[in-house]
This record gives sequence, C-alpha cells and structure tokens, in this order.
Amino acid sequence: MITDRNPHKYHLIIILLLTALALASLAACQAAPATTTPAAPTASATESTPASASEPSATAAVTSQETLTYVTSLYPMYVTALNLTSGITGVEVVNMTGTITGCLHDYQLSPGDLTTIETADVFIYNGADLESYLDQVTDNYPDLPLIDASAGIELMDENPHVWVSVSLMMRQVEAIAQGMAQQDPANSAAYLANAKTYLDKLAALRDELHAAIDPLPNRDIVTFHEAFPYFAQEFDLNIAAVVEREPDSQPSAAELAQTIDLIRELEIQAIFVEPQYVADTAETIARETGVPVFTLDPASSGPLEDPDAYLEIMRQNGEVLVQALR
Ligand SMILES: [Zn+2]
Repeated sequence: MITDRNPHKYHLIIILLLTALALASLAACQAAPATTTPAAPTASATESTPASASEPSATAAVTSQETLTYVTSLYPMYVTALNLTSGITGVEVVNMTGTITGCLHDYQLSPGDLTTIETADVFIYNGADLESYLDQVTDNYPDLPLIDASAGIELMDENPHVWVSVSLMMRQVEAIAQGMAQQDPANSAAYLANAKTYLDKLAALRDELHAAIDPLPNRDIVTFHEAFPYFAQEFDLNIAAVVEREPDSQPSAAELAQTIDLIRELEIQAIFVEPQYVADTAETIARETGVPVFTLDPASSGPLEDPDAYLEIMRQNGEVLVQALR
C-alpha cells in the first residue's frame, strides 16, 4: 500500500551504493534514470483534452513522444486520474462518458464511447460490476490494459458505489496509482508522488467530515438511490430507507406508503435526494410527511476541469448533513 515514499529511499540507497563503488560507468547509467524527476513543469499539455491530439502539424513534431491516453469509465475515476497525472507531460485523461450525469447503471456503450475507447492506451474503471459493458470492451480490445479501481475491496451486498466512502476512495486512488505506475514505468515515481499528495488531501477531508458528522445527534437518513451504504458505514449513519433504488425505477404505491410509514415511525428528520436525479417521489414523501428534502451528492458527476471536485462535493455533503441532522 504505502509504496509512495519507499522508492525514493531505495533509489537513494542504490545511488549511494553505486557511487561508493565508484566503479562501473555502466552501473552509473542504471542509477541515472532513478534520479531524473519525470515531472517537467510544462503541465498545461495534460489539461488539454482530446482535440489537440488529432492535429497533424506539418512536420510530425516530436516523433518519439506519443501521448499516453487514460480513458476513465466514470467521473470519480476521472478526477482521480487528473490528480495522479498532474504535472506529467505526454499523458492525457479522457472521461468516456464526458459529463453524462448519474452513475450509469446498466449503461450501454454508444458508438462514440467505442471511438473514445479506441484512443485509450489504458482503460480505468470503477469495477464492482458497475460497468456491465466491460465484456464488450475486453472483447473488442483484448490487448487494452485495464485498471480495476475496486480490486481487492470487500463489497457490501454487491453495491458498486465504493467511491462514496472517502476511505474506499483512497483505496481506489492507490489501486489506480499502482496501475498507472505499472503501465507507464518511466513516470512511476511521479504517479506515486501525486498519489501521496492526493491521499493526504483525502485523509484531511475524512478527518473534517468525522469532526462535522460524528457529534450529530440524529443518525437516521433516507436516501434516494442505493449510493450511500459505504458512506453511511464510514460515518456511522443509518440508512433507514431508500426511496428508489435506481433513477428510473418508480416505487409502487405500496412501497411508497411503506416508506412514508417508516419515516413517521422512525421520526426521520431529513430525506436526501441527489442532484443527478429527478426528485418528484422524494417531494411526494416530503409533502406527505412534512420532512424536509436535502441534496446529497454521490459525486458520480461534476465539472471536468476541477481536480478538487470530489473533495468539494464531499465537503458540501458534510455541510448538508450538519444542517439536516443537528
Ligand atoms: Zn448508482
């Protein structure tokens, strides 16, 4: 897990040993790559999204240097990849689904998506069976390297919304960083250093959220789709009911009545909807029960330019919970 710092240590030791031996110029050559800092500070190249890549400028400018393209399946993986590639030249990150909202259950690949995947050197996906189309990717591109962000994470009831827990997001960051370092060894030190920076920010966020949420007297929440179990587990909240399991499934009249009964019975103080979904069912429940509706964001979509988006969304969620549950 914590390979972030170790490579530097080992590199130093190796360099010291080699220098001490003061022997082979051959050995010195091997040591040299370890000291090169791969992050040349022309970062702006990273920010530019696909457009520039297809511009065949008169002379095929830099022949040896091709862009390494990471394509991500889902927004949280995209934001993570942005952070991990920060300052590294010659790499770009493309979110396959652009700014499509929601968390893409039962998503069908469009011809455009396949075109995007065609440009990928590495495909990064959430895993936990969220990408039901994954077979189609591996069938069409059997040689495309994949990074499964949820590899090794223990799931609750096969729920794929792993990233909504800050701690599990950190596990995903580690998995993605390791995968990138493996796929692009020349920049591995930079990926791992970026991972360290981002993980520190996430750890600080988690502390902040604990400080805000831990003291709240009320722990029962009603959510709109099944996106929050990992978050609830992390911050010791109780999901008393889920209004609709997924965006397109309207609850039956009986289910609705049952939910309303439960809210009254448990004296639920707040219903949480998500910005990505229409909220009319939640509003019906709110009208029936008099319980206010708040917005809680599972970070399954957001701005493409903002590497801090996940941090900001989760911080905002903390503020909403404090409002709703105090
Ligand atoms: Zn979902």
